[in-house]
Amino acid sequence: MSDRYYIDEPIIADRAALAGAEAHHLIHVMRAERGKQVTLFDGSGNEFTAVVERVGRSEVELAIIARERVDRELTFELTLAVALPKGDRQKWLVEKAVELGVTRLIPLRTCRAVADPGEQALTRLRRAVVEASKQCGRNRLMAIDAPQSWSDFVAATAERPCRLLAHPATNCDQPDILSKAERTIGVLAAIGPEGGFADDEVALAVEAGWQTVDLGPRILRIETAALAMASMVIARRM
Ligand code: SAH
Repeated sequence: MSDRYYIDEPIIADRAALAGAEAHHLIHVMRAERGKQVTLFDGSGNEFTAVVERVGRSEVELAIIARERVDRELTFELTLAVALPKGDRQKWLVEKAVELGVTRLIPLRTCRAVADPGEQALTRLRRAVVEASKQCGRNRLMAIDAPQSWSDFVAATAERPCRLLAHPATNCDQPDILSKAERTIGVLAAIGPEGGFADDEVALAVEAGWQTVDLGPRILRIETAALAMASMVIARRM
């Protein structure tokens, strides 16, 4: 999977050009020469076999020789809404979410949240999505939305059939709360900040129909909780 490169626009003709970080990777890291065969993807779900035709200083021109639809997505849409941790832990979370097949990540503003990524941070995180997709073979990019406040998010998702809120020490005798996740096309899972969701934030969600989920007797870091939650839902659908 390593010789995969992402092109930021739909590949529709029989030629393509790489620029920016992707060209840098191919020219300077992989030391591409004319005739080298690589795989391209454009986020459309297709994978392209291409041959290097010209290596410039900071761009590479390629000829497309084959196009194939290669689906490595989940069979349902999984959205993670997360009050993001700080610094490198954000990037780590994004990388792992991409590997697991998460469809969309929504940074949450909650009253105890510590990170509120601006445009630059979002651009960096979206770049991490590309890197992870190159590595793991995804041909569609996980979307990262602009941050949303918890109350707006709860209001905006009121009609969604399966909404799961990770919250410690709830549902001690939970019947099978994940069974709904097995049947719906889209599953939403929300993870709170290190300080947890505030009581009124939990109450707001429960009133709106969210189901609280207990992930066990230990308190998990945000990213562990997010990945555990994603894995649990995915495992039910495999
Ligand atoms: N101090 C907080 C814990 C925050 S951990 C508290 O006691 O509520 C960060 C987030 O990870 C939580 O808001 C929750 O969404 C999720 N989380 C961590 N451990 C969990 C567990 N055992 N069960 C369910 N959710 C958990």
